[in-house]
Amino acid sequence: MQYVDPHIHMVSRVTDDYKRMALAGCVLVSEPAFWAGYDRLGPEGFRDYFRQLTQFERQRAAGYGIEHRCWLCINAKEAENVSLSRQVIAMIPEFLDEPGVLGIGEIGLNKNTRDEATVFLEHLDLAARRQELVLVHTPHLADKYQGTRMILDMIHDESRISPERVCIDHVEEHTISLALHAGHWVGMTLYPVTKCTPARAADMIEMYGPERIMANSAGDWGHSDPLAVPELIFEMRRRGHDDALIRKVVFDNPLSFFGQCPRFLFTLNSV
Ligand SMILES: [Zn+2]
Repeated sequence: MQYVDPHIHMVSRVTDDYKRMALAGCVLVSEPAFWAGYDRLGPEGFRDYFRQLTQFERQRAAGYGIEHRCWLCINAKEAENVSLSRQVIAMIPEFLDEPGVLGIGEIGLNKNTRDEATVFLEHLDLAARRQELVLVHTPHLADKYQGTRMILDMIHDESRISPERVCIDHVEEHTISLALHAGHWVGMTLYPVTKCTPARAADMIEMYGPERIMANSAGDWGHSDPLAVPELIFEMRRRGHDDALIRKVVFDNPLSFFGQCPRFLFTLNSV
């Protein structure tokens, strides 16, 4: 089955992963900007990273028939440095007209600090001014519920951004309904250990239905699986779900969410 991985950090994956993903049916990936494994020393490090995301990575994916899209921001971890964050946010508009850019992301909270919230709000302001889609990272483990509440409150208070233009990512059983009820799209991250397994994701689809739900691998340089979305397809088929339902989650939904971005042009014939 053809599928989309709406959240994967391909800059940290080898080219062979693109090949394996293509063989498994992947036709499109979207890559949020994230922490590089080290704190960058200045805004130029981000400019180079954004060039990598918008240019080189797009070409590397195309070599395997996979379309590549990306999101731009300074991640929550480095957002603790507010002055650096402001320099990066000021630079992002240089890249917003690139054809591969879907919007602002993955912004969010890491430790739920005041500085992270300040930078989150300034990213939201940029998204509102430029009418960009927003992809939101929610914190891990113990910080997730409170962080998700804080994030949803901040988005709710930003009246210029309508809820269907925001995806709340890394939802789990205790946060998915908060985000869906607020009118957002949600992403379930399929990780081998933390976050959500394919079986738990299938449970959530059975509980909440397939509307506004996506699934991703969030593959990066940590322990993760770039073929996690096909694992979910396998689990859903094993449970007897029909292909139309599965396809809605792994293909139609990400295309509908991305399709709100006027730069997003995608037809199956183009791959
Ligand atoms: Zn990520």
